Amino acid sequence: MQMIEHPVQHLLAASGPGPDATLPPRPDAAAREPSLARNSSASSARVNLLEYDRQGLRDLFAQLDEKPYRAEQVMKWIYHRHATDFAQMTDVGKRLRSKLEAVAEIVPPKTLFEKQAADATYKWLLGMDGGNAVETVFIPESGRGTLCVSSQIGCGLNCRFCSTGTQGFNRNLSSAEIIGQVFVAAKHLGNVPHQQRKLTNVVMMGMGEPLLNFDNVVRAMSVMRDDLGFGLANKRVTLSTAGLVPMIDKLGEVADVSLAVSLHAPNDELRTQIVPLNKKYPIAELLGACQRFAARRPRTTITFEYTMLKGVNDKPEHARQLVKLMRQVPGKVNLIPFNTFAGTQFERSDKTTIRGFQKTLLDAGVLTMVRRTRGDDIDAACGQLKGQVLDRTRRQAEFRRRIEEGARHAA
Ligand code: SF4
Repeated sequence: MQMIEHPVQHLLAASGPGPDATLPPRPDAAAREPSLARNSSASSARVNLLEYDRQGLRDLFAQLDEKPYRAEQVMKWIYHRHATDFAQMTDVGKRLRSKLEAVAEIVPPKTLFEKQAADATYKWLLGMDGGNAVETVFIPESGRGTLCVSSQIGCGLNCRFCSTGTQGFNRNLSSAEIIGQVFVAAKHLGNVPHQQRKLTNVVMMGMGEPLLNFDNVVRAMSVMRDDLGFGLANKRVTLSTAGLVPMIDKLGEVADVSLAVSLHAPNDELRTQIVPLNKKYPIAELLGACQRFAARRPRTTITFEYTMLKGVNDKPEHARQLVKLMRQVPGKVNLIPFNTFAGTQFERSDKTTIRGFQKTLLDAGVLTMVRRTRGDDIDAACGQLKGQVLDRTRRQAEFRRRIEEGARHAA
């Protein structure tokens, strides 16, 4: 973790953080778009403590001439007790509290909208700045609760079966905006790490390609797994990627988390049509990266996600091709019945086809599950997430134009 270079003491010497104050750079400064406001805290001169992992907070406190254990005390208040006001931190001395009030704040994303599905799946629309918002989904199951977290506003990768892809891309989320999603859900659920754990798993599977926002995602995942953060076991934090080969290698070097790969097709020709990134990183290269990841983390099982698209990738020969691929890398397959969204060209494979596909894989010894669709009545199911994206890629407009054109032809 980098040391924060600029001292903050002079901020404290002033009557408050005035317009000339030089603040320590937020850890993700290089990864953000400088011209974009981030959230309600962006207008403030204070640093958002949600930006920092444990080491970052210790460094920040060192600059305040405070002992590192004070940083840990504050971290516990934030993630175990969901405190956003320094005044709540009663075992932190008054002098330090006022010091913190002068230079720092704790600002999670603002909830613009929240809704519960009939099956108890819960969805939040969280405002990140002026016109952008992302979706976060909590899926309760017996004995576990999984939160699906977004890493970008929109996504630039344009996978054909994904609603997020149709919205184009605006920017990466900061670490505070990523961990802030977990904060909002944990607070809502009354989650207490190590005691009353409602939130047991996090999947970086919401809007965006997490490996294209590497530093911020890795920092946020470190807070998820830290005992003073949300205290989740390493294997219960999963990063899902469309297959950015060099970044899978980098992830294996720096973070002990689980890996999921959006495969969705068993050969390059088909995969390039469904996941355009395949053109750059074809299946053989992707599996090579998975093999290296598995070699570094022998206890990890890589999950291969495969969305079942009627008449596209669900034929018996596709299942047989997939079996051959799965012989090359230790992993399991998750079959995902396609979740529809407005304007899509795809349909969900029928149940018999999905069961037959699964049987071929199981008979060949490939561990294969069919994912139960959750939250589809509130558009919270896999592939349906759609926040509010101020698109900078013109993809949203193009998608709308195609829908309108289709409607005109149909009329
Ligand atoms: S599936 Fe993931 S990587 Fe592909 S467009 Fe959707 S959000 Fe982006």
